[in-house]
Amino acid sequence: MKNPFENAMQQLQNAADVVEIGEGVLELLQKPQRIHEIAIPVKMDNGKLKTFRGYRVQYNNARGPYKGGIRFHPAVDIDEVKALSFWMAIKCAVVGLPYGGAKGGVEVNPKELSKRELQELSRGYVRGLYLEIGPNIDIPAPDVYTNEQVMGWMMDQYSLLKGYTSPGSFTGKPVEIGGITARATATARGGFTLLERIIEQSNKKPQETRIAIQGFGNAGYVFAQLAYDAGYKIVGVSDSRGAIVSKNGKCINPYKLLELKQEKGKIYCDKSVCDSKEYKEATNEELLVMDCNVLVPAAIENQITEKNASDVKAETIIELANGPTTPEADEILYKNNVIVVPDVLANAGGVTASYFEWSQNIQNTSWSESETNRKLAEIMIESYENVYDTAKKYDIDYRKASFVLAIERITQAMEGRGWV
Ligand code: GLU
Repeated sequence: MKNPFENAMQQLQNAADVVEIGEGVLELLQKPQRIHEIAIPVKMDNGKLKTFRGYRVQYNNARGPYKGGIRFHPAVDIDEVKALSFWMAIKCAVVGLPYGGAKGGVEVNPKELSKRELQELSRGYVRGLYLEIGPNIDIPAPDVYTNEQVMGWMMDQYSLLKGYTSPGSFTGKPVEIGGITARATATARGGFTLLERIIEQSNKKPQETRIAIQGFGNAGYVFAQLAYDAGYKIVGVSDSRGAIVSKNGKCINPYKLLELKQEKGKIYCDKSVCDSKEYKEATNEELLVMDCNVLVPAAIENQITEKNASDVKAETIIELANGPTTPEADEILYKNNVIVVPDVLANAGGVTASYFEWSQNIQNTSWSESETNRKLAEIMIESYENVYDTAKKYDIDYRKASFVLAIERITQAMEGRGWV
């Protein structure tokens, strides 16, 4: 299997095959502007010193300061961070935010760290990179296995090093220190807004729409909640350890599942606890190809590949994760008339809310939660319409259309600056 950056570059090439991109421009877009790699020493609870590897890749800042999350995950490596930073540049351009793209990561399993160790690691990351980031340079945010607490520690460390409080240096912070309530649910809410639009356009009803969701983190769980509340039928849900699927077409209740997960640490059935008449256990692989109308990958990259794409039963895929579908799988899905709402559009609600948070921080203002959600929905729908029109114009899938749109915008910015 190709690494995520190779897949990302294939996606770029696919867009270049649709519209003319100057040779020099393409070459520039094939390389990140800056790559930072750091060593983060942490004194562990057992007294031993351990050194973690951290990265920040700043891909392109033609449209504005670099923007993108920080991931704490054992599988983090430079190719993954490069791909994720490129996708951030594309994503911000698709939804028209005045940002470039970046991403950070630390190779670590945060579940094995105590709270103190995690705080040390978060502060160490900022100590290693504080000269390279900031509200006008590069604004990090949460990603897989980082959360508002981590952002709070990082913002504090940055502020300590600068000598003044800088709330605009990180987004996705706790509300008490400049975060906004709407940020935590925004990734899922943005994707859900698009689901509603697609279902409405196809004259379907929520009650007759069966949804399977891979991943039960911030994005997957909130999406499940929103869909459940709106009357959609959730027929499958998974976390990193396994899945449960509905047995008799009965809807899975995500609220109950969260209780179970908190109690048991996993969401699939545990003989004594789970009502086996209602749900049955499955693997993540089985969940991806189960019988449903909408599939929502909300975990990590490379889940739908050339191996399982032709077995996908869903008519629509909404990518809340970054990079869940490979370019080879995209081709198969397109041939099979499966609509893929790509990551760079479907999960852009997260960074859009980050932009709202940052705007309020640097202007010392605050908006109401309902106003924030209304603006978020507006941007999501408008961006979807733009992608839809581009897809129709060139007769291409939504991913290619998103890339065409984004590359046009990034190129215009680079031209405006006189880079190309
Ligand atoms: N990590 C999120 C993403 O992949 C959010 C980035 C941000 O808010 O800057 O889009």
